Amino acid sequence: MDKIYFIVGSQDLYGDECLRQVREDSEEMTAFFNENLGSSAKFELLDTVVTSQTCLDDMTKAQTDPDCAGVIIWAHTFSPAKMWIKGLKEIRKPILHLCTQAGERLPYDSIDMDFMNLNQSAHGDRELGYILTRMNIKAMTVAGYYKNEKILKKIDKFISVAKAIKASENTTVATFGNNMRDVAVTDGNRLSCEIKYGWEIKYWGIGEIAEESGRVKENEVAEKMKEYSEKYTMATDNIESVKAQARYEIALEKFLSENNCSCFTDNFQDLHGLSYLPGLSAQNLMKKGVGFGPEGDYKIAAYSHVLMEMSRGRKGATGFIEDYTYDMPSSGELELASHMLEVPPQFAAGKPEIKVYPLSIGGKDDPARLVFDSVEGRGIQTTIIDLGDKFRIICADVELVKQPEPMPKLPVARVMFRHFPDFETGIEEWIKAGGAHHSVLSTALTKEDIELFAYFTDTEIVTIG
Ligand code: MN
Repeated sequence: MDKIYFIVGSQDLYGDECLRQVREDSEEMTAFFNENLGSSAKFELLDTVVTSQTCLDDMTKAQTDPDCAGVIIWAHTFSPAKMWIKGLKEIRKPILHLCTQAGERLPYDSIDMDFMNLNQSAHGDRELGYILTRMNIKAMTVAGYYKNEKILKKIDKFISVAKAIKASENTTVATFGNNMRDVAVTDGNRLSCEIKYGWEIKYWGIGEIAEESGRVKENEVAEKMKEYSEKYTMATDNIESVKAQARYEIALEKFLSENNCSCFTDNFQDLHGLSYLPGLSAQNLMKKGVGFGPEGDYKIAAYSHVLMEMSRGRKGATGFIEDYTYDMPSSGELELASHMLEVPPQFAAGKPEIKVYPLSIGGKDDPARLVFDSVEGRGIQTTIIDLGDKFRIICADVELVKQPEPMPKLPVARVMFRHFPDFETGIEEWIKAGGAHHSVLSTALTKEDIELFAYFTDTEIVTIG
């Protein structure tokens, strides 16, 4: 379970009685957070910051604990911020600066100087905010009574982004084969990815999977076929083609797990030793949170994995997609998004069907894939591009819609969506910003989530909507 450390600032000028009360209030708040946000993370209260050393100890603990996703800081009393400097220099994890108070209301009848000194967040949080700004440290600033639903929602948003950043730092992409020949936007600087986001981009030949799939046992295939037939409708007689996907998936799962990878890419131009392009196998893996990038797109493999992690526990679907074709009636233009095979089944409106058709490019045997129409609803489309000297995230509002007519001859799963504020602006801005044809679609995440991720990772962001 991911942890969030709660670090509360005070000082020793007001005496032990005051510090006892600070502790008691902080414990009560920690318990409240665990009660109300406990499904997202476990909150732990660290020692009250009263000196430079306690702050340094707290921040070092947060930074070095592998389970800690981020910290929430708050000044209960006035907490002179010079004592925060050494500690803040140690922390590189996401920080939420909570500007709140232990009690909701002022006790008008009894308020005196002691009460004001004890409940001095209005003062202390300004001092703390100044030093964050002075040290150029990024923090999400949230102000309001901590029990308010609105504040809890903001804290929850912070937790999901902090967890996603933690996942990002632990993301390794297995790239089987290289970037698709001649394609620009999927390529880039792998080293920059690791320095900026922690993504380790590791190369292997697809022959590794070919060999591994040759070692898969018949009982393992039978078990995987059972999984397929439970989750999906078998709409083909070509069981051999489906079994091949079962073998690929088992081989991929083993290989990724042995090499501590949470994402992979392949390339239809480089399938040496495989008779089919992984279709159903890649789709079923994406449903399990594995990041996938076709045509060697390691950025979208990692980004989709990170965003799937961000969306954990929320309603809605998140996954890879590719911009394909437009439908442009004057009554309202739509876009048809899909891929050669690999559309994630989390977008399926009904039970997906396993079908086998020839692959239009690549010259391999007819691969099994899941075919379905998509769910409807508001969401976002987002991508990340490498501009040589920096990365850019682009995030646009979209609405997934029911496809206006059936498409009986389209052999792949598909998603149709509307752009915002309108088709022209949505498309023009995406293209002017250099937005890729590979992206992540989500009905679970919001633009605010992506903006927060971009903020904490210091990535330029273009939003459209
Ligand atoms: Mn593609």
